[in-house]
Amino acid sequence: MTMDRMHGQAPHTTYDVVIVGGAIMGSATAFFLSRNPDFNGSILVIERDPSYAMSSTAHTNSCMRQQFSTELNIRISQFAADFVKNLRANMGGDERVPELTIQNYGYMYLADTESFADMLRRNQAIQQAAGTETELLTADEIAARYPFYNVEDIILGSINRKDEGYFDSGTLFDCLRRGARQGGVDYLAGEVVAMSRTGNRISQVTLASGETIACGTVVNASGPRAAHIAAMAGIDLPVEPRKRFTWIFSAATPLDVDLPLTIDPSGVHVRQDGPATYLAGCPADPDPGVDYDDFVMDHDRWQTHVWPIIAARIPQFEAIRVVNEWAGHYAFNTLDQNAILGPHHEIGNFIFQNGFSGHGLQQSPAMGRGVAELITYGEYRTLDLSPFAFARIPAQRPITETAII
Ligand SMILES: Cc1cc2nc3c(=O)[nH]c(=O)nc-3n(C[C@H](O)[C@H](O)[C@H](O)COP(=O)(O)OP(=O)(O)OC[C@H]3O[C@@H](n4cnc5c(N)ncnc54)[C@H](O)[C@@H]3O)c2cc1C
Repeated sequence: MTMDRMHGQAPHTTYDVVIVGGAIMGSATAFFLSRNPDFNGSILVIERDPSYAMSSTAHTNSCMRQQFSTELNIRISQFAADFVKNLRANMGGDERVPELTIQNYGYMYLADTESFADMLRRNQAIQQAAGTETELLTADEIAARYPFYNVEDIILGSINRKDEGYFDSGTLFDCLRRGARQGGVDYLAGEVVAMSRTGNRISQVTLASGETIACGTVVNASGPRAAHIAAMAGIDLPVEPRKRFTWIFSAATPLDVDLPLTIDPSGVHVRQDGPATYLAGCPADPDPGVDYDDFVMDHDRWQTHVWPIIAARIPQFEAIRVVNEWAGHYAFNTLDQNAILGPHHEIGNFIFQNGFSGHGLQQSPAMGRGVAELITYGEYRTLDLSPFAFARIPAQRPITETAII
């Protein structure tokens, strides 16, 4: 990754748009704004840690899927697939930008109860209506295609192998950030510690260095720290850091086909990683909000929970060796684990780009484009993202998205 502008002062004291957080969401918005011919303003991205080491973006499992249960989330991932597959063209044809593909091994949801199987059937109908190629498989059909699974307890599986699987999110992030900078966006290393409010507007942000920057619009793209930033504007935001553990392991006898991102009924997931390595993940248990700086790994969880589940599901994985592991943070929206996007209903120049929980990477192109439209035109022009508006939070009206990982 290239380093952003290091410490120092912003080139200007006033910006039309100040984006707090320069990881994938902040950079996506900066990129789309800077490319919009109808937007002529100035843009500053402020990032407290230009290494991005602790960001969600750096801890991701880097996959996209079309298997959601709401049409809007499906449309968002369709745009992600389109954007990633045409990355070079989207970066203006720059030959230094690699052509990306999606490793389409699909997500395999496994249901071991009738109620879960019914949910997969309902979701498939929604997905097919939106143009996805989700297939439902009986246990016998799963075993015929993927003989390595133990399907004794499985009633139904659901898989889609189009635009679903691993993609190189590091390159996507790099290109968005580089593209934004080429489009004239300033990146500043610094931590936003306060905001000043004049009436119903945020007039300036203050950095830890003491520097103040006046802003026309401020975008909260601070990931798991979103509630902390919102509190600076006097807003209560139900987003908290929740730990998600990842392990990379090698198998003594690798599988002979790519392993789909398999969602075991227990909630553990496992997928192909390298040619002979695999990635497994699961939430903490219990799963409370944690401190912003708490990335302590729960080592017991592999031995007592994850490995036994994986070895029972795929007996070939009884002989494996962990080669890497990490704990990352979801920006967990406690109301409904979905995006919170757009302006605050009273503080109209404070824009949320928050709460993406476990699917923010794939949502970054559509969210960046949407926020850029909102700032430029005062409305969404391509995909209507208004169902994600903040208003549902105080009204306690959750979005029902059943396909949450
Ligand atoms: C283990 C794991 C697996 C995942 N797997 C997937 C997946 O397979 N597919 C998928 O789509 N999504 C996945 N996600 C989710 C995805 O990674 C996130 O939704 C996405 O990266 C969020 O990006 P962001 O820019 O909003 O937040 P972040 O990447 O966390 O970036 C926020 C940035 O804001 C900065 N910041 C915070 N406070 C301040 C401040 N006061 N001043 C200045 N800067 C500040 C931070 O330093 C940080 O760089 C996963 C997440 C985890 C943790």
